[in-house]
Amino acid sequence: MRGLSIKLKITLLYGGLMTLLTCIILAILIALSNREMLSSASTNLKEEVLNTFDSMSYQDGRLFVDKEITEIQDGVYRSVYSEDGIFLAGRIPYEFQTNRALSDGQLVLENSDGERWYIYDVKMSIQGYGEVYVRGIASVESADSTTRVIMRISLFLLPVLVLMTAILCYSFTKRLLAPVARITRTAGEISKGADLSKRIGLGEGSDEIHMLANTFDNMLEQLQSSFERERRFSSDASHELRTPIAVILSQCEAALEREGLDEVEREEFQVIYRQAGKMSRLVGQLLLLSKGERDQQALNLEMISLSDIFQMVAEEQEELAQGREIRILTEIQPSIEMKADETLMMRMMMNLVSNGISYGRPGGYVKISLHKDGDQIYGEVEDDGIGMTEEVLSHIWERFYQADPSRSTDSAGLGLPMVRWIVQVHKGRIWVESEPGKGSKFSFCF
Ligand code: ADP
Repeated sequence: MRGLSIKLKITLLYGGLMTLLTCIILAILIALSNREMLSSASTNLKEEVLNTFDSMSYQDGRLFVDKEITEIQDGVYRSVYSEDGIFLAGRIPYEFQTNRALSDGQLVLENSDGERWYIYDVKMSIQGYGEVYVRGIASVESADSTTRVIMRISLFLLPVLVLMTAILCYSFTKRLLAPVARITRTAGEISKGADLSKRIGLGEGSDEIHMLANTFDNMLEQLQSSFERERRFSSDASHELRTPIAVILSQCEAALEREGLDEVEREEFQVIYRQAGKMSRLVGQLLLLSKGERDQQALNLEMISLSDIFQMVAEEQEELAQGREIRILTEIQPSIEMKADETLMMRMMMNLVSNGISYGRPGGYVKISLHKDGDQIYGEVEDDGIGMTEEVLSHIWERFYQADPSRSTDSAGLGLPMVRWIVQVHKGRIWVESEPGKGSKFSFCF
C-alpha cells in the first residue's frame, strides 16, 4: 500500500466502499423482492383457484365447466376433481407429476422433476352437484426467474458501476491533488537549481492545499531574503576587508624594503606579509563567489581553447606536484574550443588539480583528461589519493567546508564552491565519484 499514490489509494478506497455498499443493497433488495414475489405468486394462485368456482355450474343433472379453465391464467394451471379425487376437467402442467392427495385450503410446495411448484387445493360445493376440488398449480421458478433477471442485470451493472466510480474518483482526486504535484515540482526545481526565487503561486483560496502552498511560498520568501542578506553580508564584508588588507600588504612591503631591519624583525614582517597575502587571496575568492552568486559578476565570454588552458594548468602545477612526488598525467584532445571566461576556466582547473595534489598520495598521480563527444565537452580530474567518505561528499560544495583543516590549502574551503559556480555559469554539470583510500574523480561536461 505504501508505494501507491494518494490518488490510487483514494480510488481503491471509494471503489471498494462503492462495491461493498452496492452488493449489500443488492442482496437486501433481492432477498426482499424474492419474498415479495413468492408471496404475491401464492396470493395470485389462491385468487385464481377461487375464481374457478365462478366458471362452474350444475344444470340438467350435469356439471358444466367453462372452457377457459384450460387456459393458463397468470402462470396458474387449474384442474377440477370430484370428491373422491377423479379428474374431471382442467389442465395440469406437462412436467408436473404428483400423487399428492387433495386437501382443502392448504398451500404446499412440491418438487417435481427438478422444478418447484406451489399447489393449492380448495374444496367447495356446487349447488345440486355436491362437493368438488379445484387444484391450482403454479411454478415457483417463474417467480424466481424475475429474481434471476435482476441478478443478471446487477452482475453486469455492478462492474460498470464500480469502474465508473473508480474513473470518476480518480479524475476527481487527480484534479484535487494537481496543486500538490505543482508543489512537489516547484520544490524539486528549487532543490535542483538552488533557485529560491521560484514560487508555487496557487493564488487565493481557503482550502488546505492553497493554505499549504501559500505557507510554502511565504517560507521561500523568508528563505530567499535571509540568503540574500547573508550573501550581501559576505560580499560587503569581503569588499570592506580588501582595503585594510591592501594597506597591511603595502606597509609590509615598505617595511621589508627598509634598511636596518634585523633578521628577527625581517622574519616577523615576512610572516605578516605571507599571511596577509593569503588573506587577500581568500577575500578575493570570497568576493568573486558572493558576487557570482548574486549574479553581479560580469562574465568575459570569448572563444577559447580549453585544450590549451588544461595543458597550461598541468604544466603550471608540475612543480607543486613534484614537491609531493606526484605525477601529472594528461590525456587532452587537442583544439577543443568553447565560449567561456578564460580566467574563470583557469581558476576552475587550478582548484581541481591543486586539490588532486593536496589530497593525493606520494608516488601517485593526478590525471587530467579532456575530450569532445558530439557537441558535448567532457573533462576529468582524477587522483589516487585519500578519497572521500559519503559524509565528506555531502558537504564538499559548501563554502568554508574542509574535511581536514590541517591539510589546508590556500582556498580554505572555497575551492570547490567556486568550481561549481564556474561550471554553473557556463551552463555545465559537475559530479564526483570517490572512495576513501582509493581516490577521487571530478567529472564535468559543457
Ligand atoms: P580546500 O581544498 O581548501 O579544503 P575545497 O572546497 O577545495 O577546499 O575542498 C573541500 C573539501 O573537499 C576538502 O577539504 C577535502 O576534504 C575535500 N576534497 C576536495 N578535493 C578532494 C580530492 N581530490 N580528494 C579528496 N578530498 C577532496
